[in-house]
Amino acid sequence: MAVLNKIQAAFFVDIRIRVLIVFVFNLQRVSTDTTHISRLPVMEHFYTIQGEGYHQGKAAYFVRLGGCDVGCTWCDVKESWLTEKHPLWTIDEIVEEVKKSGARMCVITGGEPLMYNLDELTRALHSNHIKTNVETSGAYPLSGEWDWICVSPKRFKHPLEECLHECDELKAVIFHRNDIRWAEENAAKVSEGCKLFLQPEWSKEKEMLPVIIDYVKQNQQWEISLQVHKYMDIP
Ligand code: SF4
Repeated sequence: MAVLNKIQAAFFVDIRIRVLIVFVFNLQRVSTDTTHISRLPVMEHFYTIQGEGYHQGKAAYFVRLGGCDVGCTWCDVKESWLTEKHPLWTIDEIVEEVKKSGARMCVITGGEPLMYNLDELTRALHSNHIKTNVETSGAYPLSGEWDWICVSPKRFKHPLEECLHECDELKAVIFHRNDIRWAEENAAKVSEGCKLFLQPEWSKEKEMLPVIIDYVKQNQQWEISLQVHKYMDIP
């Protein structure tokens, strides 16, 4: 019996240690995500023309941060998903690249950029007179000083109400005609004046575009967004 008690005691100690390790690990991750961020995982960065949504056609510097757990089946940047695959850059290094390009607007995209606290990055861009736009699924709390917030809501991980309330642009990707209902559900939660866009998912464009055209003719508060950078063959 004494031996059995000793085994049970050892088992519970072991469980407690394991719970403690998981707790400390998560605490570390949470603090990384919500406090001062001096380095961010950059998957790619380039000066180009914004191809989608309200700012379509304008020159913009894109910074694509690595890391996303939203899991869209049709995602065209799946290589962004794993944070640890991408090199960590300091805020100064990122801002220096944007400055060198001469761009007046910087789009922070991903991945899911709001997995990180973006206060310092956006402050640094603003102090260099560079406008800040974010493209997010809205699944994480807002951080950062933004001139334009574009939320592209995803069924796979729903956007937070605060992100929908704050966004300047709602851009719903239409992979299937039922996605229009999903777009409407999200549009019911945005603030007055928010721009509404329906964008056919690239691989379904031929199939979905006629559906979207019909819908927009009947629902004129919506506009169509096409990924024109892909037609121009630029990133
Ligand atoms: S939120 Fe964006 S990056 Fe993340 S899985 Fe969906 S499409 Fe891909």
